[in-house]
Amino acid sequence: MTKWVYSFGAGRNEGRAEMRDLLGGKGANLAEMATIGLPVPPGFTITTEVCTAYYENGRKYPDGLREQVATAMAEVEKAVGARFGDPHSPLLVSVRSGARVSMPGMMDTVLNLGLNDATVDGLAAASGDARFAWDSYRRFIQMYGSVVLGVDHHRFEEIIEHVKLDRGAVEDTELTAQDWHRVVDGYKEMVAETINRPFPQDPEEQLWGAIGAVFGSWMNQRAITYRRLHDIPADWGTAVNVQAMVFGNMGDDCATGVCFTRDPSTGENVFYGEYLVNAQGEDVVAGIRTPQPMAKARAKPGEKPMEEVMPAAYAELVKVRERLERHYRDMQDIEFTVQRNKLYMLQTRNGKRTAAASLKIAVDMAREGLIDEAEAIRRVNPAALDQLLHPTLDPKAPRKLLSKGLPASPGAACGAVVFSADEAESRAAKGESVILVRVETSPEDIHGMHAAKGILTTRGGMTSHAAVVARGMGRPCVAGAGGITVDYAGQQLMAGGQVVRAGETITLDGATGEVFIGSVPMVEPQLSGDFATLMDWADKVRRLRVRANAETPLDAETARKFGAEGIGLCRTEHMFFDPERIGAVRQMIMSETEGGRRDALSRLLPFQRKDFIELFRIMAGLPVTIRLLDPPLHEFLPHSAAEIAEVAASLDTDVAAMQRRAADLAEANPMLGHRGCRLGVSYPEIYEMQARAIFEAAVAIAQETGRAPVPEIMIPLVAARRELEITRAQVDAVAQQVFSEKGYHVEYYVGTMIELPRAALTADRIAEVGDFFSFGTNDLTQTTFGLSRDDAGKFLPLYVEKGILPKDPFVSLDPEGVGALVRIAVEKGRSVKQDLKLGICGEHGGDPASIQFCEEVGLDYVSCSPYRVPVARLAAAQAALQAGGVDRTA
Ligand code: PEP
Ligand code: MG
Repeated sequence: MTKWVYSFGAGRNEGRAEMRDLLGGKGANLAEMATIGLPVPPGFTITTEVCTAYYENGRKYPDGLREQVATAMAEVEKAVGARFGDPHSPLLVSVRSGARVSMPGMMDTVLNLGLNDATVDGLAAASGDARFAWDSYRRFIQMYGSVVLGVDHHRFEEIIEHVKLDRGAVEDTELTAQDWHRVVDGYKEMVAETINRPFPQDPEEQLWGAIGAVFGSWMNQRAITYRRLHDIPADWGTAVNVQAMVFGNMGDDCATGVCFTRDPSTGENVFYGEYLVNAQGEDVVAGIRTPQPMAKARAKPGEKPMEEVMPAAYAELVKVRERLERHYRDMQDIEFTVQRNKLYMLQTRNGKRTAAASLKIAVDMAREGLIDEAEAIRRVNPAALDQLLHPTLDPKAPRKLLSKGLPASPGAACGAVVFSADEAESRAAKGESVILVRVETSPEDIHGMHAAKGILTTRGGMTSHAAVVARGMGRPCVAGAGGITVDYAGQQLMAGGQVVRAGETITLDGATGEVFIGSVPMVEPQLSGDFATLMDWADKVRRLRVRANAETPLDAETARKFGAEGIGLCRTEHMFFDPERIGAVRQMIMSETEGGRRDALSRLLPFQRKDFIELFRIMAGLPVTIRLLDPPLHEFLPHSAAEIAEVAASLDTDVAAMQRRAADLAEANPMLGHRGCRLGVSYPEIYEMQARAIFEAAVAIAQETGRAPVPEIMIPLVAARRELEITRAQVDAVAQQVFSEKGYHVEYYVGTMIELPRAALTADRIAEVGDFFSFGTNDLTQTTFGLSRDDAGKFLPLYVEKGILPKDPFVSLDPEGVGALVRIAVEKGRSVKQDLKLGICGEHGGDPASIQFCEEVGLDYVSCSPYRVPVARLAAAQAALQAGGVDRTA
């Protein structure tokens, strides 16, 4: 019989942390905590396999499950000394979901399960507190009613408000046992009316209703969206955890809290979190009451830190914190409850953190000896580094403060105010920058949070939904800005007499919690400190070199600053669009004769030479790969009537001639047309001019600095060996001319892009005439799939959603198809030239999964956009570690 249920804390701990696939993260860690002797209320976990079986069998439970649950429940009863459904000494349980990876806010929780009209009296008697018992009962009906029975939660709020109004009470805490009893009666009546049957009184029925709701919620829209955004497969399933209740709301010697063993925003090594005295579970996250800080050091005047209010429980918690960090060797996100001064641990998991915190924690933990340098490298998600490389607010820039909230997720963001997640999504899809403003967010809002540049809420703390989700997504967030009033109906927000309407711009500083009116200028990020340390460690480990795709001096400087070890792709056509030279480019295109073209090219030569001089100077001593002209010529032609007239006049020709030439150049399939080396074959003078500019620039810089650059001249879109032979001969001839004119010789290489399947399949032939290959995986993906890279965006997301393709192949290299061609080209190329230099310069060069592939097939370098260089350095290090390379950090 398959084992469907695993016990913890009840004398037996059947699970372990490593069993998270089977038990979900929460269940596995509850078992682990119980095993290492931490105080965990007893309970059991129904495995993720049950969830999968449930959906495979048309929402039916597998055989044996009910029996196993009954046995595990009996063990919990024994451990606690209370019985489920016993009117005198009732056992109450919580029922929670727990998937393999944490999905905050995605799944539902029911507390106090087991209460009914009889057991509520038993709870009152056992606790000696009737008010607590009736409050617990109404909480249970409310949670069960909304989560399991689908009753709108506003209906419950209305009933409480009604009783409060009747009693002249402002706070919930003013209500007595009788008042809560009235609330319970009101709830039961309302629920019965809504669902056409009474609220279930049988604890067994309650239990199976809640278990069904957890499994059911795996397929709710919020969970599906979250899985889609985070690449989580639907067949992982969720586990269900059933655990004896402990109460943080039995009086002032009780509390409940959520905290992190280090600051999840900055990574600082301080105990960080929030707790509430006399409160139950969800109160802290729900933002209904303002939680208090844990540590004295973090308390502001007037706040009541747990360290002072409950010193004994706090001291115990500090010990637990150390124990957990030593055990898990990572920052933990924990939930606890103090019942009558006794501490209970309800959850631990690796805490979500900002990129900045992730970096600091990894570096600090390596220095503290908790992990080694290699592990620190593995710990930081390369893609998340992106967040650190982006600008923050310029401290010197003038600004107009609107209000201040909590610094919930760092980074600065600026955009138009929108008040709904749907609007955030639709406006962002049109390319607008938006800030999503909500009173508070809920899991229904995640698509809008994802689309927004930043998130602002007026209610909720540092562990509110908005804060947790924004940090995970890397969006700047200001939470709980209580000074701001949001008027959804009027589509405006107000603070201190100032009004901001929907569509107007605000700026958020997620590091300080400030909100400004209008846009505030930003500054470049700091790349020193922990960032530099981790990059150093990564550089020691990685085998792959990292270069940048850059044409302009600004891009080249940025790339150097981020640690690029040369340029892997300089797309020379980008240099042609400059207003100063486009005239000459157009003259070259328009000319019907070689003489006319040479004339125009001679005007372009000084510009190109200057471009290369600047690049060589910035990249002194490093390789610079310059790709000769690639796009179809018509891309440079003027479009508007005014532009056409202007060019015609400057060329002393008429508009009709211009239009004729444009018509001549038009192609049905330009990306498969007269472009790349085909231009070099048809118009050798173009590549000759470019080669001359490169060699003259190289000689000039060698003479100026004494450090000769090593140009790598790259021929695009080669399909046949002969194309490379012809174009290479042109380049070599120009090199000889320039060297003899200048009396100076520089080393150079001529290679090709491998960006057509035919080139990959005949790479051995091509390698005979080329010095290096650079995989142009943008075109290679386009031509392998027969998929236009400019148009596929319209339907590729659907392909990914339907699982036809695992990822967008233009973002992450398709290992099966495109990757197979790369492998063939590598093998064939190196079979001819053992030390053939191999790189990649398509967009994939900055994608961590693709970099891993490049490591596996043995490329020499990756080249990516300047901002992705650090991402690539770290990803290359992780790939090297994964490949089991020598650990050079030791
Ligand atoms: C490529 O095709 O991968 C490439 C780098 O060239 P481009 O994107 O300029 O076509
Ligand atoms: Mg290309």
